[in-house]
Amino acid sequence: MAVNGKVGLNDANRASIPLPVLRGPTPILGPRGCFMFASTVQYRDSERPARDDTFHNERDEYVMWGFSAHRAKFGSADLDRLGGEELKAAVLGLMQDWQPSAKRLVQAADASTVSAFAVKTSVPIPPWQTRNVTLLGDALHNMTPFRGIGANTALRDAAALRSALVMVDRGERDLVAALAEYERDMIDYGFGAVRTSLADMERFHADRPLSRALTKAAFRAADWIPPLKTALLGGR
Ligand SMILES: Cc1cc2nc3c(=O)[nH]c(=O)nc-3n(C[C@H](O)[C@H](O)[C@H](O)COP(=O)(O)OP(=O)(O)OC[C@H]3O[C@@H](n4cnc5c(N)ncnc54)[C@H](O)[C@@H]3O)c2cc1C
Repeated sequence: MAVNGKVGLNDANRASIPLPVLRGPTPILGPRGCFMFASTVQYRDSERPARDDTFHNERDEYVMWGFSAHRAKFGSADLDRLGGEELKAAVLGLMQDWQPSAKRLVQAADASTVSAFAVKTSVPIPPWQTRNVTLLGDALHNMTPFRGIGANTALRDAAALRSALVMVDRGERDLVAALAEYERDMIDYGFGAVRTSLADMERFHADRPLSRALTKAAFRAADWIPPLKTALLGGR
């Protein structure tokens, strides 16, 4: 299960946000199989309000966080039915021995932005008989969000499908043949992305201290050694 929330970013609270989160997307491997991800959305040209924790329009700056753990960790709480404040309390209940600055992100979240969802992953399917209707993005290869590549993969599909359709429009390819080639490639890299996203989910929520220590060590090393980072991110 994942619980997400947003904290409005302004001059008054900027200093209380952990520095790595202000710098970019930050994964936090917590104890006992709990994981948190936080990132800021900031605009270079925005006019920031001096103090305002709410969201009025799409240009408001904010920190988004996502906390995730196996459903059983949340006990008997039915997260799908809880409101924002109750969800924050459920998350904070699992963060008792976390860094205060990470807990503050949850405490400060605007309750109206907090929601929970069950993390899902699609199951690879073999190629099908191509017709003049095709698929792209989450409609086929929905994946866990732990590698952050679902939308990127959907955009890759869109670019590949566009190239195929341009060739058809120029009379260089037959429609069904062009779509068949698009689908063959897309199924291959799309479900590759599903598999790596699932593996990341398992790695980030490993309960055993040794697995967790190894993952932490790999991420720390990747921060220092750029080629290792490239390898860890699969060339991304
Ligand atoms: C918490 C979270 C974090 C994520 N983080 C990242 C990230 O950092 N990087 C990344 O690359 N990806 C990320 N993703 C994944 C990304 O959001 C999805 O992979 C992406 O949105 C898929 O795009 P899509 O166009 O295929 O589908 P969608 O974004 O789901 O778009 C489908 C659209 O179709 C509409 N629709 C549905 N049915 C109908 C209908 N019958 N008629 C008309 N319209 C309809 C829907 O309302 C929706 O707007 C994240 C996902 C989650 C849940």
